[in-house]
Amino acid sequence: MQTKPDPNNDQLLRRQPMPGTTPPPGTPLPMGERKIQFAHNSPALSELALQQIRQYIRDWRARGANTTVNLDGYASTEGADDYNFNLSRQRVLNVRSEMLHPSNGESGIPQSFITLEAHGETNRFSATDLSPNRTVLISSSSPVPPPHPPPPPPNPSPQPQPPLPNHYSIQDCSTAYEAEIRDAIDEARRKLLDVANAIMSPGSNARVDASYRKFFGTNSRASIALRLLIIRHSLESVGIECENPGSLAYGFFCPAGVLAYTRAAVMITGIGHIHVCQPQFHNMTRAQRIGTIVHEGAHRYIYAPGDTYYTLDCLETTETLAMSDGDRFTNADCFGCLIQEQI
Ligand SMILES: [Zn+2]
Repeated sequence: MQTKPDPNNDQLLRRQPMPGTTPPPGTPLPMGERKIQFAHNSPALSELALQQIRQYIRDWRARGANTTVNLDGYASTEGADDYNFNLSRQRVLNVRSEMLHPSNGESGIPQSFITLEAHGETNRFSATDLSPNRTVLISSSSPVPPPHPPPPPPNPSPQPQPPLPNHYSIQDCSTAYEAEIRDAIDEARRKLLDVANAIMSPGSNARVDASYRKFFGTNSRASIALRLLIIRHSLESVGIECENPGSLAYGFFCPAGVLAYTRAAVMITGIGHIHVCQPQFHNMTRAQRIGTIVHEGAHRYIYAPGDTYYTLDCLETTETLAMSDGDRFTNADCFGCLIQEQI
């Protein structure tokens, strides 16, 4: 098992004091950090919050206007888990909105510099007082991150799992690519079963519970588990076809460009095959390959036509944070990332 890298959380953990050692009010935050406070049960920005955000924008510009700005939203712990998650999400969206287009008419920070994540309820900022946890933390990281995060280290799996019995077909792939695709399908099927079981036993697997809330919000657990099992069953006889540069219609199925490089790289046509663009699929990490197989399986085998993308490592984007629970139910990447995060 390896932990998926999460640059936002890493920064947060490094810079934040542990609960109980929070410095007294008034202690200045590190350079480039700001805490925006919210009232109980409210995502609304106060006049003070608006001023703080505008000052942050001016400081950002004065520092060169070239750092990434991370927004991390939180809620205090009273009340229901799911409700608090949505509250933290709304808070972070409101801060982003003011940051993009300040309501006093000054110019904002371009969207491409802003990352955001909703964390739900926390006692990270105080274990004894609820109010400091009703917050959005603004932090800067420099320099701007590269377009693709470095791949995680190889999975130190003690012993490789034997292939599952299957009836699938893999066509037009080189030997090395075919081995990777078989591994991705087999592991996707194992994890789809494990995760479906964990979903039906809330509290049995904290990591699955956290991912479930992130990708499916308050959707019915039984419905999602059933959909995972349908994908699993169908992948047993999936047809996979490698699309290689130079092959017929490669340019149509596997167009160049940033989005195509990430997830749209794998496309579906007609009669049940999943078309895998090479070398893009081969260049991904193992977890990303598994997530992509599940993503395409969701398109193919259940009603999940939605294509709102998380990042390649399943971090939230502006678009994913804005999805409703109904959107999530039919969004392929929610299924892909739910499984990918368990790898
Ligand atoms: Zn898709």
